[in-house]
This record gives sequence, C-alpha cells and structure tokens, in this order.
Amino acid sequence: MKIEIRGLSKIYPNGNRALKDIDLEFGTGMFGLLGPNGAGKSSLIRIMVTLMKPTSGMVLIDGKDLQKHRRWLRSILGYLPQDFRFFTSLRTWEFLDYAGALAGIKNRKKRISEVDRLLNQVGLLEVRDRQANKLSGGMKRRLGIAQALIGDPKLIIVDEPTTGLDPDERIRFRNILSQLSQHDVTIILSTHIVGDISSTCQGMALLNRGELVFSGSPENLVRNAEGHVFRLNLSPAEYEFVKERYNVISTIPVETGWEVQVVSDNRPEFDSSETIIPNIEHAYVYYMEHKLHADISE
Ligand code: ADP
Repeated sequence: MKIEIRGLSKIYPNGNRALKDIDLEFGTGMFGLLGPNGAGKSSLIRIMVTLMKPTSGMVLIDGKDLQKHRRWLRSILGYLPQDFRFFTSLRTWEFLDYAGALAGIKNRKKRISEVDRLLNQVGLLEVRDRQANKLSGGMKRRLGIAQALIGDPKLIIVDEPTTGLDPDERIRFRNILSQLSQHDVTIILSTHIVGDISSTCQGMALLNRGELVFSGSPENLVRNAEGHVFRLNLSPAEYEFVKERYNVISTIPVETGWEVQVVSDNRPEFDSSETIIPNIEHAYVYYMEHKLHADISE
C-alpha cells in the first residue's frame, strides 16, 4: 500500500489552522504519528478516515483520491477513534459479533469463529461473556482494537490508543500492534507518547502546531540528534546556571551536586561535558525545542 499526503491543510471555521501544507509519503507497515496535544494528529486522522474534508490538498491511497473513493476506503479501513466508547449491555463477544455484522460478515458461523480468533489475539477470550461496559479501561481499549480488526482491514488507524493506560496495558497494546504489523497491513498509530514509537515503526512523522517537523524512520530521527545530547556533572550553582540556559532532560542527584542531561546545538562549556548517544526521547526534545522546520525526510 502506498499513502501519499499532498499539500494538506485544514483551517476550521473559527480560523484555527490545524494542518499547514503537509506532505508525507509512506507504505505498508507501521507508521507513527507523533506530536504534542494540539499538533494536528486527530485532524489529519479525521481527514484520512473521510470524516472530515481538508481545506486544501489531498490524500491518495494506491493512487486513489480518498474524497472520491470513500466507500472503497471504508471497505479496507479499520478505525479506532480517540474517544472510543460503548454504551451497551452486550457481552464482549456479542459486541464484536455486532461489529462483525456491521463489517459485512454475513455467515454467522464464520463471524463467531472470527470473533473468538480476535478475542484471543487481544487477550480477551477469558472475558468473552463479561458485559463489555464492565471491562477495565485497558480491556475496553483492546476490545476497541478488536472491533477495528474485524473484517480483515488492510489499513488500520488508531488514534491515541494508549492515552490513560497504565504501563502494563500500554506495553500489551504496543505488542498487539507490532504483531499486527508483521502481516501485510498498514497501521497508522497516532500518539503523544514518545515511548509508543518503537523500532517496529518503519516510518514516522513528527507534527507540531500543524506543521510537519520531521518525517523518516525513528532511527533517522535519533541519528539527527547525535552530537547534541550531553551529560554534565554540576555543582548546585552551575546547575542553576544550566537550568536557565539549556533544555535539561533529566536530573539525578549525585554526591557533588547534579548529573544532568541536556540537549543543545553546541557542547556546553563545562569540564564535565560529555557527548552521549541519544535515544528517541532525546531526539524528540531536540526537535521540539529547536523547532526545526526541516525537510529532513528520508
Ligand atoms: P491533536 O490530535 O494533535 O491533539 P487536533 O487535530 O485535535 O490535534 O487539533 C489541532 C488544532 O486544531 C488545535 O489547535 C485544536 O484546538 C484545533 N481544533 C481541533 N478540532 C477543532 C474544531 N472542531 N474546531 C476548531 N478548532 C479545532
């Protein structure tokens, strides 16, 4: 699958510019859409699932303009919206069975076997008979991904699926997504949590205030921050100085004062300054704080 986003902009009727001339291209596999609140992720996703029209620009999937192929899109799409909720007294399996019927699986036997296959895949088989609205928050989210997966979608879009989940559930959710990405599907994962972007993402985009700040692989994002992350050992007075002038990422108390990690274009002028290998959190801060409007797309 090839997804092309071309010159996409969205201005809401009240004048809010949620997306500014976004160009992006990616293919099959997992794609991470990362950015803080208000970056424009949900606006982009609402356009991609054809719930909203862009102000200008277009999205093409395998060369097809989505605005002209809405029905086709919906036949290949599995979508987990950000505010996925259900007000239902249906049991867990019944809810999925209903979703399966909506997705067009007419044969009841086939539907039930699909329901149980998916419940097993998301780890909910044991609670299949529990009322869906009595599941825990994490379980509800997993039921959400199961309903997005019914009917074998080729494009799966999940909007901030890990928000509010505890770390165990977040890891579990992430594992479900990475297992999915081993199949021949395209998954778009939107998140404001840097840790959700793992090496299973072949590609990613970083959005900030409606602008594309980076697109490429997570490895490239990290590579671009190389030489810009430093570890310093500081006395309390030096720490006060550094705190005011640098982007401090972490602070650990040590015997002589503080060990801090900072992101900076240039090496801070302290004897103890040493360059360290960046991780994705460092790279994220490097980009967001420096607000590179770069065309570093690889
Ligand atoms: P994210 O999902 O990254 O948090 P959104 O796409 O929800 O970002 O929002 C991007 C910007 O668009 C924000 O400034 C937000 O306030 C604005 N926005 C979102 N939805 C609407 C709307 N329906 N009407 C007006 N402004 C909106």
